Amino acid sequence: APALSEPTLTFAIERRTDPLPDEQREAVLANPGFGKTFTDHMVLATWTPGDGWHDARVTAYGPLTLEPSAAVLHYAQEIFEGMKAYRHADGSVWTFRPEQNAARFVRSARRLALPALPTEAFVESLRVLVDVDQAWVPGTEHGEASLYLRPFMFASEAFLGVRPAAKVTYSVIASPAGPYFSGGLKPVSIWVSSEYVRAAPGGTGAAKCGGNYAASLAAQVEASEHQCDQVVFLDGLEHKWVEELGGMNLFFVRRDGSIVTPELTGTILEGITRDSIVELAKELGHDVTERRISIDEWREGVASGDIAEVFACGTAAVVTPVGRLAWDGGEVVMNGGEVGAVTERIRSTLLDIQYGRTEDTHGWMHRL
Ligand code: PMP
Repeated sequence: APALSEPTLTFAIERRTDPLPDEQREAVLANPGFGKTFTDHMVLATWTPGDGWHDARVTAYGPLTLEPSAAVLHYAQEIFEGMKAYRHADGSVWTFRPEQNAARFVRSARRLALPALPTEAFVESLRVLVDVDQAWVPGTEHGEASLYLRPFMFASEAFLGVRPAAKVTYSVIASPAGPYFSGGLKPVSIWVSSEYVRAAPGGTGAAKCGGNYAASLAAQVEASEHQCDQVVFLDGLEHKWVEELGGMNLFFVRRDGSIVTPELTGTILEGITRDSIVELAKELGHDVTERRISIDEWREGVASGDIAEVFACGTAAVVTPVGRLAWDGGEVVMNGGEVGAVTERIRSTLLDIQYGRTEDTHGWMHRL
């Protein structure tokens, strides 16, 4: 009943008069890289305790004005999301399971004592931004490119007291993204961090908050020093159980075709790609188990041949093979460092759905 539901936030449209000229935008779309160029507009909205969400609008992309005392700059009360807008062959633009990102954004907000943004307002904010900046969604001529969408929310109140902020800003920015692996799918190498922990029980590991990523950087530096691309974090209590990478969840494909992924413990991010792959892999005939898997099971499983393929997954890189696992004192190589057949099949099954090349039997795609 509409009378009982929360009124949907209405976004005013303030179109800029000086958008990037067509030729310059096309030059960006031809070679966008990742996360370095932004579209002409952004979404902004403000929350205050008395009024709830208000002043919602699409406006010119540009610098924000913040007082140096803004709470987010001191206490990191901040959350974000990451998703993509995909253009299909008929020109229409879609997102993948946006209500899942909206729900995770609400869970992250609760954990960081930020106000919830209703699902309808979250999805509407994506729709209005992509509508105004639709020329920025790469076409199929650019291959598996997309418009990366970054909704975020932060404490903008000018106040140094440690308490939930009484003024909060919500924003969405958008950035064209090229095919993640333009030179073909390339397996990544992973460093086992023995010094750093990403999350502990009762902490913020399941929330998508900036602080988790800040805390992962020292481990990422350690990985680079060991010629590895990414870090795998182990649990904070026993330092034994495989959790996830800095920005992706993990899957293990066994020789018998069964698949294992670390169960959701409250300390890892509940990836939407992870959830989708659990379902797709079952439909492809794999036996899929969500359970704890130890770093020793990983190392020994590869050595014995029991683990045939390992891959990581997330919105940005979709499905990425893990070719090498290194730690202080040794390493193992998965599948000869090559892309495995199961990894490849799951990756293409998911991409075919996202790019509209196959029927969306799950109702996962949402037209913007
Ligand atoms: N784990 C972490 C820590 C992440 O940052 C991400 C990216 N959001 C993921 C996993 C994958 O999540 P998703 O599939 O929803 O992108």
